[in-house]
Amino acid sequence: MNAETSKNSLMNQTEDQMIDEIASLKEQKRIAIYAHYYQPIEIQKIADFIGDSLGLAKIAREREESDIIVLAGVHFMAETASILNQAKIILSPNFQAGCPLASFLNVHIMNEYRAHYPGAPRLAYVKTTAETKAFSDVCCTSSNAVRVVEKAAQEWNTDTILFGPDKNLATFVENRTSLKIIKVPEMGNCPIHNFISMNDIDKAKKKHPGASLLVHPECPVEVQNQADFIGSTSQMLQYSQNNPNSNGFIIGTEMGLVEHLRWKFPNQSYYPLNSAAVCKNMKKIDIRNLLAAIRSVGTPRQSQYEIRVNSTQAAQALQPLERMLKYS
Ligand code: SF4
Repeated sequence: MNAETSKNSLMNQTEDQMIDEIASLKEQKRIAIYAHYYQPIEIQKIADFIGDSLGLAKIAREREESDIIVLAGVHFMAETASILNQAKIILSPNFQAGCPLASFLNVHIMNEYRAHYPGAPRLAYVKTTAETKAFSDVCCTSSNAVRVVEKAAQEWNTDTILFGPDKNLATFVENRTSLKIIKVPEMGNCPIHNFISMNDIDKAKKKHPGASLLVHPECPVEVQNQADFIGSTSQMLQYSQNNPNSNGFIIGTEMGLVEHLRWKFPNQSYYPLNSAAVCKNMKKIDIRNLLAAIRSVGTPRQSQYEIRVNSTQAAQALQPLERMLKYS
């Protein structure tokens, strides 16, 4: 099927037909679909694995069933999967799915800060480009940031850490250690989490009295301070399972996680802290472009969907990721 014929046939198919074709083609071609919790729920439902950004990359490393992975998430996630899985083919259904948070930090900015703090380790949140990771000393996720920062300070024998790019996660870490955390840059943020406000908390608590409030550490610090629990997407899921509340849970993160929890745990009640917390980049992956990527496998069009971090950069970026895994 050439590109034009493929496009025309996609236009004529219903969503159910496309989902059936995805299910059948991924079996035939031995393709695995990995989806982030923030993906549209219809993508999560046909995925082989669902997780957070690093969790997905690690699963890809451990699982042998497939050498071809379609990464339903934003660009840096596909890059991380490529860094950790150089022998596998990583496909992204939509190269336009970028991440504004990752765009806050680059090598030039890191260099500027490094000049002021020459002995401080450079810590890159996992939500960064491959190039930024390759230029950093250690990576972290929202679930292990405190521990990783403490270990890095010990190894570098310093009390100062360069931390980027999320300012709210940086403050979360700073409030839990005695270290000096330098935000690189000062105002880096995820626009989806950073716009969640105290007003949202007032409204949600009035609407759902007695519900537990769980928030992501990328939310503003005043919002974090009101929470019953602060954690990554996976940690929020775990918390709600380990601490059932008949009044339900108010979830302070992207809407995809709320939809995931409602789907997986229908006996519990989950409410969004702000239903407008929708990442339009995450939603750039849809059934249509997912099917197009899967159809391309084994054809000349496959290269249009491949994300491959070159081996030199991947080797450099692997070091801070492996240091993080060692620390956490
Ligand atoms: Fe980036 Fe925030 Fe969207 Fe995640 S939710 S992809 S951090 S903009």
